[in-house]
Amino acid sequence: QDERTAQPTARSEELFDQAQRIIPGGVNSPVRAFGSVGGTPRFMASASGPWLTDVDGNRYVDLVGSWGPMILGHAHPDVVAAVQAAAERGFSFGTPSGGEVELAAEIVARVEPVEQVRLVNSGTEATMSAIRLARGFTGRDAIVKFAGCYHGHVDALLASAGSGVATFALPDSAGVPRSSAGETIVLPYNDLAAVEEVFAARGHEIAAVITEAAPGNMGLVPPLPGFTEGLRRVTREHGALLISDEVMTGFRCSPAGFYGLEGPYAAGPADLFTFGKVMGGGFPAAAFGGRAEVMALLAPAGPVYQAGTLSGNPVASAAGLATLRACTPDVYDRLGVVSRAVADGVADALGAAGVPHTIQWAGSMFSVFFRDGAVRNYDEAKAQDTDAFRRFFHAMLDHGVHLPPSAFECWFVSAAHDDEAVSAVLEALPAAARAAAGA
Ligand code: PMP
Repeated sequence: QDERTAQPTARSEELFDQAQRIIPGGVNSPVRAFGSVGGTPRFMASASGPWLTDVDGNRYVDLVGSWGPMILGHAHPDVVAAVQAAAERGFSFGTPSGGEVELAAEIVARVEPVEQVRLVNSGTEATMSAIRLARGFTGRDAIVKFAGCYHGHVDALLASAGSGVATFALPDSAGVPRSSAGETIVLPYNDLAAVEEVFAARGHEIAAVITEAAPGNMGLVPPLPGFTEGLRRVTREHGALLISDEVMTGFRCSPAGFYGLEGPYAAGPADLFTFGKVMGGGFPAAAFGGRAEVMALLAPAGPVYQAGTLSGNPVASAAGLATLRACTPDVYDRLGVVSRAVADGVADALGAAGVPHTIQWAGSMFSVFFRDGAVRNYDEAKAQDTDAFRRFFHAMLDHGVHLPPSAFECWFVSAAHDDEAVSAVLEALPAAARAAAGA
């Protein structure tokens, strides 16, 4: 028999009611609203290491990790110290400062093809700016993206996006001009023949192909062997740029992101990369970078305009720098151990309960699909049992494990997930798997 812990949720419910009156949907980013799993989102009061504590005093093992940034766990002492020290020196200067140069240097040192970077405030800004730069560099307007890849809420990229858009099954977004979505060509992921066909017909119009280095916004769908390499070859043949979005994978899959696992490619690296999440350490910081020849087109050096009042913010830069510096080989080892332990536990529990499932990987990043068989693209990702996931999610939450509230998201572990936290997850799994089975 499952003993469901009846957690108190009065304070979260009160806050959610109030929030819904003054914030659209009660949240500042859609997927937080529990839209696809139902129920009241838990309002967090504090977090430490692998643990979240909500406003009613419930404690959860955190497998969201702020959707990727918290690779060291919450409130890591080195990062707290760096943030406090930076804050005491002032919050924002509106001038260049040393911290942003150090953060840029750390990124350039880690990801070999990135010769120059520009710091921005969100992953959305990074991909938006990379696309403008690619258009400026090539003098072309069209962009190729893949169905199920999410690159932030950029107008031109909100066509067949994953993440919250997948969760809410919106084909697109209202408010996106037909003219800007009209310059976007959406193709199925992992289908190189489709890319070759489009380039054969329209190659001279295409400024860039943008792809997630290993897509994590339709669940984790890694590139098939040769796919990324093929994108590089085709784009180069037609004078288009390749943009590798490593906002989610960057500095997580390896010290050099997914590129560090799969690259270098014989056909050469992407022209531009985008980063976010881990490199901001939980603060609003992101970046785009790449070949110096392309980056040289950015203002003030060149004609492509891009700017930001808070870009390279000293406190955010200090958090990001401290986070990257603390990402030692031990941290990556621990991420691997924790994610394996959790994923093996999930596979055992779902298997024992007879629930169809597939777990897919990119380094230590993984997601669980509630269906059998390999998932290679968005259509296959959508063919899963989201009702089973909903039951599983709530059973886990009731047992003190906070999963991402959508079947289309990666599960994010941290190096602070110690044996106690991993055990708490493993103990919650059998009952949740039975709930998923509908038992
Ligand atoms: N690109 C990818 C691959 C992402 O996963 C995300 C966010 N989940 C973004 C871009 C957008 O980043 P942000 O939410 O910081 O705007």
